[in-house]
Amino acid sequence: MRFPVAGAPETVKITENPALVSMNSFAVQAHAGLLFEIECEEDVLSIPPFNTERDIVLGGGSNVLFRTDIPGSVYLNRIRGREILQQHSDFVLVEVGAGENWHDLVTWTMGQGLTGLENLALIPGSAGAAPIQNIGAYGVELAGVVDSVTAWDWKNLCWVILDCAQCRFSYRDSLFKSMEPDRYFITSLRLKLKENFTPIIEYSDLAKELIELGIKTPTARDVYDVVIRLRKRKLPNPAIIGNAGSFFKNPVVPTDELEQLKNRFPLLPSWQTQDNLVKVSAAWMIQNCGLKGYCQNDACVSDHHALVIINQGNAGGEDIWQLACQVRETVYETFGIRLQVEPRVYAFNDPS
Ligand code: NAP
Repeated sequence: MRFPVAGAPETVKITENPALVSMNSFAVQAHAGLLFEIECEEDVLSIPPFNTERDIVLGGGSNVLFRTDIPGSVYLNRIRGREILQQHSDFVLVEVGAGENWHDLVTWTMGQGLTGLENLALIPGSAGAAPIQNIGAYGVELAGVVDSVTAWDWKNLCWVILDCAQCRFSYRDSLFKSMEPDRYFITSLRLKLKENFTPIIEYSDLAKELIELGIKTPTARDVYDVVIRLRKRKLPNPAIIGNAGSFFKNPVVPTDELEQLKNRFPLLPSWQTQDNLVKVSAAWMIQNCGLKGYCQNDACVSDHHALVIINQGNAGGEDIWQLACQVRETVYETFGIRLQVEPRVYAFNDPS
C-alpha cells in the first residue's frame, strides 16, 4: 500500500551525522551516522538492511532515551496517510500510516464521527509506535481497537500483516517490544472504530472531572476534551520540558505478594488485573520514597507526577539514566519491587 503524499520525494532523503536532539522528546543531545527518512513502503525496500548492532528506528521519539550516540543509522518513519477503508454494520475500518502523529489521528477520527480513541487523546508519538508499547490511558488500550498491523519483516525479508492476536499485546507491551524487538518495521495500522459511543469513564480522575463539569451523559467529544484537560494539567508538555511520559510501568504482582506489601504499606493503591494478579502504583511508591521532585543536576523526577522523569535543560541521556537507576534502586530497597522501565533505552558500545 502506498498512500499518495503530495510532493513526496522519489528517493529516500538521507542526512549525514544528524543531530537527534529535536527527534527525542527528552531533548537529549545525541548524533547518528546517517538518517533515512522513510515516506512510503517502497522506501523500505531501497534502504540498507537494518542492523540491530548499530541502527535504530524512530517515530515520534517520545518513548526513547539515548544514553549514547547511535553508531549506525536512524530509520525515521514518516509514512503518512489516514483513510476510512470499510463501513461495516458494527464497526468502521480505518487505515493509518505509521508516521502519522497519534493525537492528530485521534482528533481526525473525532471529526469523522468515529469513537474508540477518545481516552487515548494527547498521547505523544506516532501511530506506528502505538502498537509497540500498546499505548494505554484511562482504562483503554490500543489492543482493544487494532484489526491488524502491516510491517516489513527484516528477518524473513517480506511484508507481513499481523492480526491483533499475533501482535501479542499485553500491559504496555507487545510482540514488537519484548518478544521480537527490531524485527519489524511497522508501516501502517488498521483500526476498528465505532459510530455509536460507549463511554469508558471508570478512572476516578476522568469520572470526577466530568461530574465537576456537570456532564452526566458524556459524548465521545466530552471524553476527548476532558482527557486533554487532565493530561495538560498533570503531565509536562514535552515541547517545553523534555520527558518521555511515564518512565516506569506499574508493576503487576501476585495477590499474596500484595497482601504482604499491604501489611507494611496499607495505603499502597492497587488494582486487580487478572485472577491472582494485581497492578500496584509505581508513582505512589516513588513518592513515598521521597523522590518526587528529586533532581540530579538537570535530570529530575517531576514534582507534578512521580512517574515522569524530566530534563530541566541540559541533562544528557546518561544523567537521566543514572537518576532512573537510583529511583529503581531506592524503590527496590524499600518495597522489594524492581520497577520496569517504559521507554526504549539505547546504549551502544563505541564501534571502533
Ligand atoms: P491516575 O489516574 O492518577 O492513576 C495512577 C495509576 O493508577 C495509573 O498509572 C493507572 O494505571 C492506575 N489506575 C488508576 N485508576 C485505575 C483503575 N480504575 N483501574 C486500573 N488502574 C487504575 O493516572 P495518571 O498518571 O494521571 O494517568 C492517567 C492515565 O494516562 C493512565 O491510564 C496512565 O497509564 C496514562 N498515562 C500513560 C503515560 C505513558 O507515558 N505511558 C503517561 C501518563 C499517563 P494505568 O497506567 O495502568 O492506566
